[in-house]
Amino acid sequence: MVAPLDAWNATGHRAIAAIAYQRLNPRARARVDSLLARHPDFLTILTRNATDPGNRMLEAVQAAAVWPDTIKGDRRFWDDEKKDAQPTPLLPGFPDMKMRKPWHYKDLPFSPDGTPLQPAGAENAITALARLMQDVTRPPDDARNPAYALPWILHISGDIHQPLHAVSRFLKDQPDGDAGGNGVKTAGEKRNLHWYWDDLPGNGSSEVLAAALTREFRPVRRRNPADWLNESAGIAQREVYTFGPIRGSETQPVVLDAAYATKAQAIARRRMAEAGYRLADLLNSLLK
Ligand SMILES: [Zn+2]
Repeated sequence: MVAPLDAWNATGHRAIAAIAYQRLNPRARARVDSLLARHPDFLTILTRNATDPGNRMLEAVQAAAVWPDTIKGDRRFWDDEKKDAQPTPLLPGFPDMKMRKPWHYKDLPFSPDGTPLQPAGAENAITALARLMQDVTRPPDDARNPAYALPWILHISGDIHQPLHAVSRFLKDQPDGDAGGNGVKTAGEKRNLHWYWDDLPGNGSSEVLAAALTREFRPVRRRNPADWLNESAGIAQREVYTFGPIRGSETQPVVLDAAYATKAQAIARRRMAEAGYRLADLLNSLLK
């Protein structure tokens, strides 16, 4: 198996959260603000880059959207996927200290050459999101802290709009699947296909990106996260693996040309806009 990476980079997740936050109704926005303020990492991770007091909550919601990736390098948490991993002590405000890497994706299997498929894991982005959507509506003092659920909802909603968080491609010479493109070696600095797609949002200002995306794309509605994932899987099969049934290697990596890059960039921008709009709808309907 190839270890799965993060989804959209920090800029992408932050832009999605910024789009959503600016479209919340006053009631949902007040609920989001109070959940963020109650998060155990509010004064540290969520606001450490909040230099402008007027924008403190906009910064916090964007940092919260990256939080599930941030904790992958945080020693308070332990990797529950790793064999023989040692659990770390439970800290106040957290239901548990697991990194929960399987919550970042659901790899629906497909094969262009008739290779037998292996199903996606039972614990995945969709099952997690369904639970977290319930948890976020719980009372503030509930043991399943609703403040803990919010960053995950922000993050997973973004992740499952990334086409390569929704598939694993099985080939005759890759019979265990490519883990969302992590197993496809690409030419250049991006190392593999998954990494290439994750980094499409670039490294600019997330707020500038969010503003550009809302100008570029009209709001779209679709409430069911399983539909968002299925759309991603369809995009992946039709438009991500257009280089054919090859997995690449160190000596012969898959070459993605300028035309591929242009197309990929356009898809990524549309998916980030859709994620932001739908996340706003979701929060507006949950946080009444
Ligand atoms: Zn992720």
